[in-house]
Amino acid sequence: MAVLYGSSRGRAPELGFADVLLTGLAPDGGLFLPTDWPTLPAHTVSASSSYVDLAAEVIQPFVGGALGREDLQSILEDAYATFDHPDVCPLVQLDDGHHLMELFHGPTLAFKDIALQVVGRLFDHELKRRRQRVMIVGATSGDTGSAAMEAVRGSEHVDIVVLFPHGRTTEVQRRQMTTLKDANVHAVAVQGTFDDCQDLVKAMFGDEPFRERHGLAAVNSINWARVMVQIVYYVWAVQQLGRGAATDPAQATTFCVPTGNFGNVFSGHVAARMGLNVDRFLIASNRNDILSRLIETGEMRAEEVVPTLSPSMDIQISSNLERLLYELLDGNGAATAELIAGFRDHGRAALTPAQHQRLTDEFSGDRIDDSETLAIINEIYQSHGMLVDPHTAVGIGVAQRHRRAGEHVVSLATAHPAKFPDAVEQATGVRPELPPHLADIFDRREDYAVLPNDLATVEDFVDGLRVDGLS
Ligand SMILES: *Cc1c(COP(=O)(O)O)cnc(C)c1O
Repeated sequence: MAVLYGSSRGRAPELGFADVLLTGLAPDGGLFLPTDWPTLPAHTVSASSSYVDLAAEVIQPFVGGALGREDLQSILEDAYATFDHPDVCPLVQLDDGHHLMELFHGPTLAFKDIALQVVGRLFDHELKRRRQRVMIVGATSGDTGSAAMEAVRGSEHVDIVVLFPHGRTTEVQRRQMTTLKDANVHAVAVQGTFDDCQDLVKAMFGDEPFRERHGLAAVNSINWARVMVQIVYYVWAVQQLGRGAATDPAQATTFCVPTGNFGNVFSGHVAARMGLNVDRFLIASNRNDILSRLIETGEMRAEEVVPTLSPSMDIQISSNLERLLYELLDGNGAATAELIAGFRDHGRAALTPAQHQRLTDEFSGDRIDDSETLAIINEIYQSHGMLVDPHTAVGIGVAQRHRRAGEHVVSLATAHPAKFPDAVEQATGVRPELPPHLADIFDRREDYAVLPNDLATVEDFVDGLRVDGLS
């Protein structure tokens, strides 16, 4: 039986996986969720397997008829052949009862690769079947853009245009986008901020003739397929640590997740819904701490975003949180829509005491500021000789502060230290080295357009690409 997907706002028709993949956002503005949760087969956690075999097993029920098992398996094999570690997501021990799971072994050195390498290939497969071509447009503050470009480079069915704020990414981040040679990937530096880039993307989607002409598509963090692919490594951790055999609470695992848009930790929640033996989730934030305040008080309150050393978590409104709210509201789409609308209008929204209780039964959270982040990076270097990036350090700090006696915690390492070399060097005096496949990135030729923050100019640029592409 194929899983069907409905909207978190309850007013969109149910769709199958392939449509959900290509659509992204539901037509009522909500986020897609499966109408039933598949159960994890017991052997996926009790017996050992390769990462790819496990991924095929966990993902298959969600894709249903859209993809046969052999196609899925070969997409997964291709996707994870781009990773530089045979385990894909290796675990290393930090302390007794505290492991780090490294999610940064993909081509762009951040955990986004784990999902996007698969999602890019799923797009390609489905578009080929439909004999369609799409143009993915997106805005990035750094990590997502390069991961999406890497994921679709060379595709015959997808073009991608990524807007980034000129002069506001790190040099490594920019070069990861501007040194790709494939004809279907295009980096555009916009003379403006990340918010300006996002507004331009929204405006392009809102321009219906333009959207139709190019078959615009998105792969942002609300795409269900990204959440789905991330479920796998939660199961993997439990399997690798040999903690999966029992549903015994003493054997349960806690995950600590550096969180921004709530996509990563929501995937963990899905794994738990599917039967994985999880104790709780620790949500780690930097100074942009709306989530830890929600957990403390039961109320969401928007505040200004402040820049930090962990920029991929500099977010106030976590887009994937809507999926969890829908669950806390017992799958009531109308109530979810009302809560979200209230929050958009007034910058605040409150859970009932019962909903708040359910949230805190599963999630705890805390914040770590920049000076604490630097101290943690240094402490891990001194005690373990290991360099960790600022996002990972925020997670480790929260895990150390909140771990109870006997609790087994897996902290997620979401970026490679060499992606944020300045912070790591500031904390330790050591500049982390890029892995071999990126070692020459500073010598590669860059190719990108610099455009003003102006919709007509950006649309003209995209129109020009399409003409070239067809000739
Ligand atoms: C995207 C990102 C995060 C935040 O993940 P969410 O799924 O948005 O919560 C954390 N760390 C790094 C390095 C990232 O790139």
